Amino acid sequence: MSTMRIGIPRSLFFYSYLPFWQTFWSELGYEVIVSPLTNKDILDQGIAHSATDLCVPVKIFHGHVSYLINQAVVDVLFVPRMVNVGTNDTFCPKFLALPEMINCSFSTMPAMVSPRIDVRGRLQLFKLCTDLQRQWAPKKSVWGPFEKAYTAQSQYEAQLANGLSIDQAWPTFAESKYTEAKKSLSSITSELKIAVLGYPYAVYDSFINGDVLKKLSHLGVSIVTADMIPFKKRRLHRLSKDLFWHYSNMVIQAGVFWLNQSVSGLIHITNFACGPDAMVGKMLELACKQQNKPLLTLTLDEQTGQIGINTRIEAFVDMLQRRIRYAHNLPLHG
Ligand code: SF4
Repeated sequence: MSTMRIGIPRSLFFYSYLPFWQTFWSELGYEVIVSPLTNKDILDQGIAHSATDLCVPVKIFHGHVSYLINQAVVDVLFVPRMVNVGTNDTFCPKFLALPEMINCSFSTMPAMVSPRIDVRGRLQLFKLCTDLQRQWAPKKSVWGPFEKAYTAQSQYEAQLANGLSIDQAWPTFAESKYTEAKKSLSSITSELKIAVLGYPYAVYDSFINGDVLKKLSHLGVSIVTADMIPFKKRRLHRLSKDLFWHYSNMVIQAGVFWLNQSVSGLIHITNFACGPDAMVGKMLELACKQQNKPLLTLTLDEQTGQIGINTRIEAFVDMLQRRIRYAHNLPLHG
């Protein structure tokens, strides 16, 4: 019997949890097919298959699903229902309804694996994996795949916290253009450190964000992100009251953390038609005002153009450089 092929779409939960799920399914004997970097065709497919008023990341997710169904022709599609990962907050409603949304959007679908991920701790995650193994790979044992997947995820998170980029920490991300950005960073000594904050699927999707990380690194900026903060450290920077949404809390806590670490400014990558982001943007704005640090907000939608993003980033970096020169009593030009 030929090996079953399981497709993992490159968006939403992908950047946070790929090491776990890629390892788990491989170890259960599946061939794991990851959709390619977002491109114009994937975006167009996503727009064609989704409701018009959805945020662009969910549209992009539809595009990756379309690729996996129609071009990669996978046997099984992995679309988990992300609810809670043990942090007292939940994922945004679009994540909660993702399996139904995908099911309604495509007339022909392969089998879909859509576990409800509502786990607090290792034991609950193990139980969930046991259910998956019984249903989808009954002849295998769950122990080995689970242990390897858990280790892969822990190592990935530890390496991100050590300052590695996502593709240095996990090879499947190597297709990401962030590698180049990170490499060029190492040769640059710069006073400019900017925190680039946003949901992982906006920060790391170089197509939709106009390759903002690479652009910044070419301008000689040192970049920090939310993933570079160890989870426990980030949680020390909670507000007096958390928001409901998991990734929103991550962005705000990271913002407060990096503002206390002397970054020159913050770039918030936000998504048009994102309800949670309306609150996150305002809170970051207030935090920046309190610390007298500049904030640039880049709002992404399917029309976002590279030129507009480049111009705004260049102007922002120029303004930050002038602030530094002014603070050091240096001439503003030269
Ligand atoms: S948090 Fe915002 S951008 Fe992310 S899926 Fe929900 S609505 Fe879309």
